[in-house]
Amino acid sequence: MPSPSLLLRALHADITTLDCDAIVNAANSSLLGGGGVDGAIHRAAGPALREACRALNGCRTGEAKLTPGFRLPARYVIHTVGPIWRGGRQDEATLLAACYRNSLELARQHDLRTLAFPCISTGVYGFPAHLATPIALRTVREHGAGFDEITFCCFSTADLRLYEAALAGTK
Ligand code: ADP
Repeated sequence: MPSPSLLLRALHADITTLDCDAIVNAANSSLLGGGGVDGAIHRAAGPALREACRALNGCRTGEAKLTPGFRLPARYVIHTVGPIWRGGRQDEATLLAACYRNSLELARQHDLRTLAFPCISTGVYGFPAHLATPIALRTVREHGAGFDEITFCCFSTADLRLYEAALAGTK
């Protein structure tokens, strides 16, 4: 059961600007940087992030690993690897839920209380946003006990609308 104090919110923002205990990165399995939100996080955090990631020896789809945030306002970055959308019959939904669940679990192990998630897998990896949003929200509601605030950081107004509707329970 989620804690009664857990605050969920959707925000239209660049995740690299958010001042919270950890931001989540939608990385690729090499963890050595890529485009999209991954590229933005590496640019903002500076080259020390790449060095820290190199020492992690990659990350499997659905798993999560932690680094410091370096030059970011966020103290830590949780790197998770979302599934590539292949039509929906390759365990994509389960793997996407695992990204959120394992990120929360890792944050909890490090006593991090405020987190921000991007819309994992819905960019280059092609997961339809209208299917990803309820998975993200359900998983965070189920596994978010003990956190103070969890932000769904939307980079587009279309994503923001999806999250606002889902949070209001209309979708
Ligand atoms: P993936 O490969 O997991 O699909 P992408 O980075 O391509 O990852 O896209 C994931 C989501 O991150 C998309 O919704 C994209 O619009 C969003 N995004 C891209 N840049 C940023 C950013 N600076 N802050 C927050 N979200 C971002």
